Amino acid sequence: MKEIILIKNGELALKGLNRSSFEDVLVKNLRNSLKSLGEFEITKSQSTIMIEPKSEEFAFKTALDAVGKVFGIAGFSRAIAVEKNMESILKYAVPYLKDSLKNIKKFKVESKRSDKSFPLGSLEISAQLGGALLAEYNHLKVDVHEPEAVVMVEIRDKYAYIHCGQIKGAGGMPVGTAGRAEILISGGIDSPVAAWNMAKRGLKLSAVHFASPPYTSARAEMKVCKLLSKVAKYSGPIPLTIIPFTEIQEEIAKNCKEEYFTLIMRRFMMRLAEKVALHNKCQALITGESLGQVASQTLPALAVTNSVTTMPVLRPLIGMDKDEIVEISRKIDTFDISIEPYEDCCTVFTPKHPKTRPELHKCEAEEAALDIEGLVERAFCGATFKMID
Ligand code: ATP
Ligand code: MG
Repeated sequence: MKEIILIKNGELALKGLNRSSFEDVLVKNLRNSLKSLGEFEITKSQSTIMIEPKSEEFAFKTALDAVGKVFGIAGFSRAIAVEKNMESILKYAVPYLKDSLKNIKKFKVESKRSDKSFPLGSLEISAQLGGALLAEYNHLKVDVHEPEAVVMVEIRDKYAYIHCGQIKGAGGMPVGTAGRAEILISGGIDSPVAAWNMAKRGLKLSAVHFASPPYTSARAEMKVCKLLSKVAKYSGPIPLTIIPFTEIQEEIAKNCKEEYFTLIMRRFMMRLAEKVALHNKCQALITGESLGQVASQTLPALAVTNSVTTMPVLRPLIGMDKDEIVEISRKIDTFDISIEPYEDCCTVFTPKHPKTRPELHKCEAEEAALDIEGLVERAFCGATFKMID
């Protein structure tokens, strides 16, 4: 008898001919996320992936936690694998299920035989195990219509697997099956959630952050690293590019009308993010913008910001309320870091009356006072890099 983790794929089941290559990516991602936890083996058969510990030291509980953060998984279970005969099934399943059944009354057993040579039919397997559980635990009752727990017996190629209760997986698609995109990451609540959201749909992430020392501190940069490291638990390692943004902001403040500061600054962010994205072989940008949340996120403002780039800009939070975003940030454990009070470059040089209905030609006229190319080039050349995992 051995304890394993049994994984059911998510939407992968829908992918027809691509399915096998999607599964390969999922297995690779699982391997990476478990690699520091001890020796294990991963096998796949019939839309199920199995993780089998290969040493006593394998950190099983931590592994369950890590599996819960891998995208592309609908659900997973702790299970035991036993020899394929009724004697072994009864001998090991009854004590193994003690904890899972201790706080419930009504249960049922379901059996699946993908190995049709097994001598008993599935009804008979269920009846025998059900009977043994009733005999051992007399608080239990069988209820096939409204069970509080379903014990599953799966007779497969090599072993019989027994488990009870599925843990919900992270859903989505395996990271790496949808291409790569560059997240513009601030220290706020929104952009880490946006990053997580797109990784969930299978995108591999690179990140870019704009820092304006001495207006922004080293701690603000640390905060961004900590946020990304939470996201990386789901997305895998994230290469981070930090762009020095001070000169650009100072030049804007010196030469442009105050009401356009934020918009012009955001246009510089997009230009630079696109450059970094191309360098990182990304096919899209991601931001944490949400419609109407602040002056620079009205539709006309977004259009003015967007017009400096030809790359698709993904804004997964565009239709979400702040409280919905906060709920996700709590779930992925970024909220407490996001609310640490270190200044982001967006909060220095903020105009008192920003334009909410900017016109592109006026914005461009304001920008004309700046050496756009030179500023972008110098900022890009001053970039520094970190790998966040
Ligand atoms: P967040 O909570 O993500 O900071 P926000 O609501 O504060 O978002 P803004 O400050 O207007 O909104 O920023 C909008 C988006 O621009 C952010 O979600 C992020 O994608 C990007 N952004 C803002 N500041 C930075 C920065 N310093 N570096 C990189 N990207 C940034
Ligand atoms: Mg912000």
